[in-house]
Amino acid sequence: MKRVAILGGGPAGAFAAEKLASAGLGVVLMDEKLAWEKPCGGGLTHKAYSQYPFLLNNSTPKRMVTESVLAAPKAGEVTLKLGDPLLIYSRFDLNHMLLERAERAGAQIEKTRVTGMQRQGTGWRLKTAGGSIDADFCIVATGARNPLRDVGTQLTPPDTMSALGYYVQGNQAQIDIQFLPDLEGYIWIFPRCGHLSVGICGKGEPAALLRKRLEAYMAGRGISWKDAAFYSHLLPSLDSKSWKENRVAGEGWMAVGDAAGLVDPITGEGLYYAIRSGDLAAKALIADTAERTLHYRKLIRHDFAADLEFGSRLAKRVFGGRFLFGSVPSRMVQFTRRSPRFSIIMQDLFAGKQPYLGLKRRLLENLNGSLYEIGMSFGFSRLVPRKARA
Ligand SMILES: Cc1cc2nc3c(=O)[nH]c(=O)nc-3n(C[C@H](O)[C@H](O)[C@H](O)COP(=O)(O)OP(=O)(O)OC[C@H]3O[C@@H](n4cnc5c(N)ncnc54)[C@H](O)[C@@H]3O)c2cc1C
Repeated sequence: MKRVAILGGGPAGAFAAEKLASAGLGVVLMDEKLAWEKPCGGGLTHKAYSQYPFLLNNSTPKRMVTESVLAAPKAGEVTLKLGDPLLIYSRFDLNHMLLERAERAGAQIEKTRVTGMQRQGTGWRLKTAGGSIDADFCIVATGARNPLRDVGTQLTPPDTMSALGYYVQGNQAQIDIQFLPDLEGYIWIFPRCGHLSVGICGKGEPAALLRKRLEAYMAGRGISWKDAAFYSHLLPSLDSKSWKENRVAGEGWMAVGDAAGLVDPITGEGLYYAIRSGDLAAKALIADTAERTLHYRKLIRHDFAADLEFGSRLAKRVFGGRFLFGSVPSRMVQFTRRSPRFSIIMQDLFAGKQPYLGLKRRLLENLNGSLYEIGMSFGFSRLVPRKARA
């Protein structure tokens, strides 16, 4: 393997480029924009910066958020302390930092659009806006709106969420999350350096309706969107059936990040999976095996894709399910308010420390204790069965 072409220079492509160039491979990364303010909350969980500490330890501006306010219909709101803070970057700054690291590791960075790919023997001829580039292998990192139809995940409408919002003036310490009736998705307010990102994501609902829901919420909170910059983008959120056939690799290529649909189908977290899949693709390419693409599939499956697939089966129940005669989001808010045990589980979910596989078991193991704490918080200790108090 002499030359690897990386198509797209977001977090997935930039990190794969850094890893491959550090291992001594010839790497050319092409992105039509290079660093840019991609519509994104820019939030990185503890799972991301504990595994990749450079995301925390650097001089790039970022915010560290230590609390989140969760709200749901008929349940009011609750403040969730984040023992493991969430880091929030501007996407321009994050992309710039990652591209700089790739360049320092020896990757050649080109600002150009890839317009087509053609197989040439065992390698590729890539058509670009300015000419063509030959490569032995391709890493496809072109994001959720991947224009290269023959490589990467084929996202159908049930595999995506619309995400849109406004960057507005303002400052606040906490993240706000608002669940809404009959929506597989949520509204967020993310404090960023110098402004707020107020947005909504949702599955199965037209963008125009999501925008209406968001504006109604903003009006209700006195947040003006007049003169505010509007953003919208696509968020992969693979349907449970789509994981089985997910096209993450083929002859001479591997897809990483959003181009491979690797996003948490419940929270929309994609930055960690972009960086992680870039890392694993580099590992698979460097590995001493003829079956590199198979190796990559196995690496991502064992590392996180099996968990995301399980998450995709939970998503409908999380947003639209019922528990103890109330909606699941409302119960989540109420339980977090009244049960310290449940609140710790929620904190771990926010931090990415609690996989979806194993969540049900942990919830069940803690159910008696949580119900006891809830009963006690109402002063109903006599009504709680003795067994539950243990
Ligand atoms: C509104 C919104 C909010 C989000 N908030 C969060 C969050 O808070 N935390 C989180 O973890 N995730 C969040 N996500 C998800 C996150 O943004 C993505 O998962 C992440 O950007 C994926 O990185 P990537 O490198 O795979 O793709 P991208 O970041 O999309 O990068 C793809 C790159 O490819 C380039 N490109 C595309 N086509 C071509 C071409 N033909 N030629 C050359 N270059 C090309 C583009 O210019 C782009 O730079 C959010 C997403 C949305 C839409």
